[in-house]
Formats: sequence, structure tokens, C-alpha cells
Amino acid sequence: MEKIKMTTPLVEMDGDEMTRVIWKTLKDELILPYVDLKVEYYDLGLTHRDATNDQITIEAANANKRLGVGVKCATITPNKQRMDEYKLHEMWKSPNGTIRSILDGTVFRTPIIIDSIKPVVKNWKKPITIARHAYGDVYKGVEIVTEEPGVAKLVFTGESGKVTEVEVQKFKGNGVLQAMHNTEKSITSFAHSCFRYAITTKQDLWFSTKDTISKKYDGRFKAIFEEVYKEYEEEFKKLGITYFYTLIDDAVARVIRSEGGYIWACKNYDGDVMSDMVSTAFGSLAMMTSVLCSPDGNFEYEAAHGTVTRHYYKYLNGEETSTNPMAMIFAWSGALRKRGEKDNLPELMRYADCLEKACFATLNDGIMTKDLVNLVEGAEVKSVNTNTFIAEIRVRLEKMLNCKCGCCC
Ligand code: NAP
Ligand code: MG
Repeated sequence: MEKIKMTTPLVEMDGDEMTRVIWKTLKDELILPYVDLKVEYYDLGLTHRDATNDQITIEAANANKRLGVGVKCATITPNKQRMDEYKLHEMWKSPNGTIRSILDGTVFRTPIIIDSIKPVVKNWKKPITIARHAYGDVYKGVEIVTEEPGVAKLVFTGESGKVTEVEVQKFKGNGVLQAMHNTEKSITSFAHSCFRYAITTKQDLWFSTKDTISKKYDGRFKAIFEEVYKEYEEEFKKLGITYFYTLIDDAVARVIRSEGGYIWACKNYDGDVMSDMVSTAFGSLAMMTSVLCSPDGNFEYEAAHGTVTRHYYKYLNGEETSTNPMAMIFAWSGALRKRGEKDNLPELMRYADCLEKACFATLNDGIMTKDLVNLVEGAEVKSVNTNTFIAEIRVRLEKMLNCKCGCCC
């Protein structure tokens, strides 16, 4: 079979630990034999980030902005223990944070679902994608613990000199205080990313806040979304999809009773908590994909999980691991499909479809990694190691790619 051609390179960001090991295997086994892969490669492994004073992360993010599509392996966000382990010069920032601030995007997380793994919520039939606003609110909050009675005020001094002041509370005893913020620019970007992603994936968009209580703060979020929606309304109607705003309490109840198949846009804190709930209820973090979409149409694909450190230490000890590569494979298929769409390469898009179908076929044949085995209901399954799992996917992928009937994928 002749290899599938690409025209524009993908930005490939390599990473750390177990995911770095699997990254290479899955490229060697599932991609390079079939695709004439064009990439701009950036090594975001912690050692290389340290050696370049983290410049490599900035270069990778800028390349993603320039070329439009990137795929990223999981990376270590250093803490004190990692400083010692890797003898780092500095406690470098989270690469995802750096990339996000350069691309200015929203992260969309979607579970990969299969028939034999039933979600905890039994009526969920289709994936629920969480779009989490990734700037501000409590994550950029400032706080005070007071140790005497007194008055707390919120003061804004405009550049014009105009002062706006509101009393927060007259404290009779000790208390706690917090101030947080967001910006119109960031909320507007968030809204654009959400509407665009809904159009790209042809799914309804839900958005929820607590604007009944937070009339000004959450009220602005609601109003900005309504304003931005006007730009997309016609396209939504054409595609037969809807934009739906509701109170967060109502959204939670509706989500639980729904059958899935939509995007749920959440403010930063809601998205943090709800994405953990949704991924757990769907089964496994190893089956969750993640894509960062910028308001100007750039995409960065990755798995939602981390570098799977515990498995890596086993691997270093020469032990066999059964780490699940599904979300990493879907990061590649998502990125290649998007490259195919942008460059009008139907063969590349077909390859991405086949790759995903080959993964599903393998799982549906009962061949899976250890993390999934205990989640399966009512089917015979066999637990295999990562390499065997990838080899089984390859057998099925090859069959599909060689099939001329067009029915396989
Ligand atoms: P993690 O790598 O996601 O792993 C947590 C646990 O979840 C694993 O120990 C494993 O459970 C299970 N798991 C996750 N992915 C799996 C997979 N593909 N197959 C099978 N099991 C899987 O999170 P962590 O241990 O908290 O973080 C490790 C490192 O990753 C940290 O240095 C962190 O900074 C980094 N991180 C990076 C990203 C990113 O780059 N996007 C995201 C999160 C964390 P068992 O051990 O029970 O098998
Ligand atoms: Mg969380």
C-alpha cells in the first residue's frame, strides 16, 4: 500500500514517562507504516524543557499557532519532588498552561465510549463533552483571613480616576474574604471557541452559570454568550443544532437525565469539577480525549490523562505494563483528521476514521488493557499488555485500509 500523503506538517509535542514510551510505539506501529507523516517535532520532555529554559514549550505553542494543528503527549508539571528527581534549574510552569495562554483557547474533553462499558448513569448513550473556561474566577482569586473585626470593601479605581466602591461585609469577628475576576476578552474568546466547536462537531451547545445569584458577574457571562451567539445563529440553524442557556442547577439535573450527545460549556470551577464527574461516570480517565481550540481556529489534541508515572516505574523495573493507549491514539487520529480537513486530504481523513474504527473493533472483540477489564459487563474479555493491544489494533487497521469495498471505514 502506498503511504498517505500530507501537505502541511503537524506540530508534534513529545512528552514524559510512560506516555513517551507508548507515543513512540504507537507511531511506529500504527502511523508511520501507513502515513507519509510530516511533522514539526518539539521535545517537551522535562529534561529538554529544562535544557532550553522552557523555550521549547513556547516555540511549540507558536508553531501550533502558525500551522494550526498540534498533537501533544502528556508532560510532567514539576513539583518539589520532580525538581530533585530531574535536577531541574527551575520549577517550570505547566506546559499546558503555557500553550493555553499562547493559543488562548478552550479545552474540550470527550469520553470515548464502547457498548460493553456501561456508564454509571444508565441513560447516557452518547458522549458528553465538557468545555471548560480556562481563565480566571477562583483560580486567579486573592484571599484574606481576617483576625479582627473590621470592614471589607471591594474597590475599583479606573484609569480615569473614577472610584467604584462597595462594602463586602462589616465583620464583628474573624472571617474570610475572597476577590476574583474575569475579563470580557477571555469570556468572549471562550464563547467563540464553544460556538465554533459546536459547529465543527455538529452538536448542541449548553451553557450554564449561577446568574440568579451572581447577577452581575455570571450575568456578564450569560450576556456575552448571547451576544456572540448572534454571529453563529444562522450556521446553527442550517446545521439543525441549538444553543441552550440554563441555570447550573437545572443543567446538572438535565445532564443526569439526558442521553448525552452535546457540549456542556462550564465556567472554570464548574468545568473542573464536572469534567471529573463526567469522566468517572463514563468509565475511565484513560478513555478521555482532550482538545484545545482557539477562537481563531487552531487545534491542539491530547489525552486527558497524565504521564502514568506508576506504570513507568514498573516499566523501568523491566515489568510489563498494561497502560491504555486509547486516548493517545485518538489524539493522533483527531489531529490527522483535522489536518486532512484543513488541507482537503480525504485519504488522510479516511485513515483517521479507520484508525479509530480499528480501536473500537479491537475492544469489541474483547481485547483490552487491564484498566478496562473490570469495567466490562456481560462480555468475555481478555486483558493484554500495551504492545499486544497496539499490535491487535494494527491487524484490524491494516485490513480496513486495504479493503476496497469502502464499507469498512
Ligand atoms: P495520571 O498520569 O493520569 O495517572 C493517574 C492514574 O490513573 C494512574 O496511576 C493509573 O492508575 C490511571 N491511568 C491514567 N492514565 C492511564 C492509562 N492511559 N492507562 C491505564 N491507567 C491510567 O495522573 P498522575 O499520576 O496524577 O500524574 C502523573 C504526571 O502526569 C504528573 O507529573 C503530572 O504533572 C502529569 N500530568 C500531565 C497532564 C498533561 O500533560 N496533560 C495531565 C495530568 C497530569 P493505576 O496506577 O491505578 O493503574
Ligand atoms: Mg478537577
